[in-house]
Amino acid sequence: MITIDGSFGEGGGQILRTSLGLALVTGKPFRIQKIRAVRKQPGLLRQHLTAVNAASRIGCAEVTGASIGSTDLTFAPQTILAGHYSFAVGTAGSATLVLQTVLPALLLADAPSTLTLEGGTHNPFAPPYDFVARTFLPLINRMGVEVTARLERPGFYPAGGGKFEVAITPAANGLRRLDLLDRGDIRGRLARALVANLPISIAERELAVVAGNLSWKEAWLKPETVDNSRGPGNIVMIEIESDQVTEIFTGFGQRGLRAEAVAEQAVKEARQYLKTGAFAGEHLADQLVVPLAVAGGGSFTAVRLSRHMTTNVEIVGKFIDIDIQTTMLPDRTWKVEVKTGSSPP
Ligand code: ATP
Repeated sequence: MITIDGSFGEGGGQILRTSLGLALVTGKPFRIQKIRAVRKQPGLLRQHLTAVNAASRIGCAEVTGASIGSTDLTFAPQTILAGHYSFAVGTAGSATLVLQTVLPALLLADAPSTLTLEGGTHNPFAPPYDFVARTFLPLINRMGVEVTARLERPGFYPAGGGKFEVAITPAANGLRRLDLLDRGDIRGRLARALVANLPISIAERELAVVAGNLSWKEAWLKPETVDNSRGPGNIVMIEIESDQVTEIFTGFGQRGLRAEAVAEQAVKEARQYLKTGAFAGEHLADQLVVPLAVAGGGSFTAVRLSRHMTTNVEIVGKFIDIDIQTTMLPDRTWKVEVKTGSSPP
């Protein structure tokens, strides 16, 4: 059985989710210890437990240690079952990270699936729904599958209550490799500031920061009021549409954080991206590793190598005989190459 130290590298929930996803795809059982050991609240939170339960249902797995706060888990999948599934986190914990866990398996299943996911859809430290739908899934669809998503209701921390649906038609003959080296020319720019149960002036202040810092035109700024959210929420999303990819950089509103500071989070990442020609920003980069490894190969360029990314690379190596090389390019961006089998010395 593969053993994993949940506290190594980035040391967070990502290690667990990547392990679950790869166990499903490869059929290999694993044991993980010290899950999120160094976090303020160690062990499985609701979001992680929902991911475990989702993976367990889809993979007909035998599981031990699946309870809130658990730091030690074993997971032995049997077969991937396509189907119509509903998973609810039950708190404002991220529902998009539940999708991240089970998607690779459903891309390779022998029949289409649908997922209804409930919980947080626009959470700090997780992919916002819009990033999933507009950045991530269009790239996944280039692997020869068809995945569509529909947001029914956004869910913000702390009220949660968000809901979205995903329909997955798997690949007929395995996943195609992706080579994502050049993003091409920029075709469009859009900064959206969403407010739910909060004054629209917050969104306007945020967009003023975006416009000022990036010298963006009024026409590229869109304040939006969300009227079907269970609680208050605020998010700023800066979209940069290039020929090959639409990247989204996000600032998450939080109680006590000034609107200007929320926008600055997103501006900082967008600015870094615009300074380079790299295909992927930091977050997209770590999320591409698993799909490319499962496809047996591919490559991409990235603005930077995060710890999430290097940790994911190590976990992939435990499940799949794959060689992932990372090379710094002259402009200090990175090229990541995923190759099947051991590389020659
Ligand atoms: P922890 O165990 O650290 O509390 P967690 O299980 O909630 O955390 P992480 O392990 O930090 O989550 O993983 C977060 C995932 O969400 C990563 O894949 C990361 O790239 C992605 N992510 C975080 N912020 C964004 C963002 N702004 N846009 C897109 N993806 C994001």
